Amino acid sequence: MLTTQEKLEILADAAKYDASCASSGAKRAGNGKGIGHSDGMGICHSYTPDGRCVSLLKILLTNVCTYDCVFCVNRVSSDIRRARFTPEEVVNLTLDFYKRNYIEGLFLSSGIIQSPDYTMEQLISVAKQLRQVHNFGGYIHLKAIPGASQLLIDEAGLHADRLSANIELPTQQDLVQLAPEKKSAIIESTMSQIAVRKDEADEDRRKSSLAPKFAAAGQSTQMVVGATPATDRQILTTATHLYGQYKLRRIYYTGFSPYPEADARLPLKAAPLIREHRLYQSDWLMRFYGFQASELTTESQPELSLTEDPKTTWARTHPEFFPVDVNTAPRESILRVPGIGYRNVERILNIRKYHALTREDLRKLNVRLKQSLPYLITTDHLPSSIIPTPEPTPEVQLDLFAPTSALTGSV
Ligand code: SF4
Repeated sequence: MLTTQEKLEILADAAKYDASCASSGAKRAGNGKGIGHSDGMGICHSYTPDGRCVSLLKILLTNVCTYDCVFCVNRVSSDIRRARFTPEEVVNLTLDFYKRNYIEGLFLSSGIIQSPDYTMEQLISVAKQLRQVHNFGGYIHLKAIPGASQLLIDEAGLHADRLSANIELPTQQDLVQLAPEKKSAIIESTMSQIAVRKDEADEDRRKSSLAPKFAAAGQSTQMVVGATPATDRQILTTATHLYGQYKLRRIYYTGFSPYPEADARLPLKAAPLIREHRLYQSDWLMRFYGFQASELTTESQPELSLTEDPKTTWARTHPEFFPVDVNTAPRESILRVPGIGYRNVERILNIRKYHALTREDLRKLNVRLKQSLPYLITTDHLPSSIIPTPEPTPEVQLDLFAPTSALTGSV
């Protein structure tokens, strides 16, 4: 019989593989006694819709699972210690941590026990008790179990701020090979249920502020990268489809890391962290800079560069588009200039209503001049020519042009 502390150790550790809730592992000093001392176990940081960073208790209800997803350490055939919380235990842990000011909310996921509906009911039971019995006002992110009934999804969204159904792998073919019980059609059907219900609830709230909220912080998902040969082009195409169809707030890309005694179908090497980063940068470009997935890679070069950020790659390979005159060009053209972030584009558009911009104006805005000057015109700057240059070698310092890592996303 495991103690609550032992369960917490197992189920917080098991939850760390789900990246759909930003970073994890933050430490909080406790007095070392009782349940409240977390030692960092299961506490992650996430961002609420209003931009606040909140600490969440991030745990699984159970790491028992009837599915056998090859890439997952919790799969049924995995020889690991198992544990299961009762909903009441999770409620008490959440309240205890909350009262001690360790956390501001809960991220709760689970292995599939009995059936998707049964698992969803257990997760809902936690959220419902917190909201209705204990009047808990903190942030709640619940995993939406693919295949759970519409009624249960509806109820989950009434209690949770965010729901997330994980797509897991980029293509249906990948799922067939590595997660045979999972079907992209079922996962997407759950995403669709959330999107439709949220639209209805938002519409109701426009008519009456008394109408109940549904998953006010929207939905997110996670895609494991590097467990299969799926290319960045396929990953970004799937991402575009999911953002377009289901209005996802975020997609989290998690590089696969090998674990002891993993299935022989899995790669032996971890996906490079920089690949994750390039995918986040590309995701950012698609959501905020007007790029299409099909522009960021090509049929013949389906992988993102590991040595150069995708915006610079695009600019370097499209000399016909440049130089862009920041004093006259439309917003969507300035957005494509390397080294200029989307907030600075807004500032440039604002400033040029009053006066023409110079290099000095850009420097004051902290525009990355070294990166941007070859591609733009100001009143006192005209690049000589856009000469196509080769892709930089790995020794070139990596350019982290935008805050796009998993650590900076909202839940
Ligand atoms: S459903 Fe698959 S990915 Fe989820 S916990 Fe079970 S084995 Fe892991």
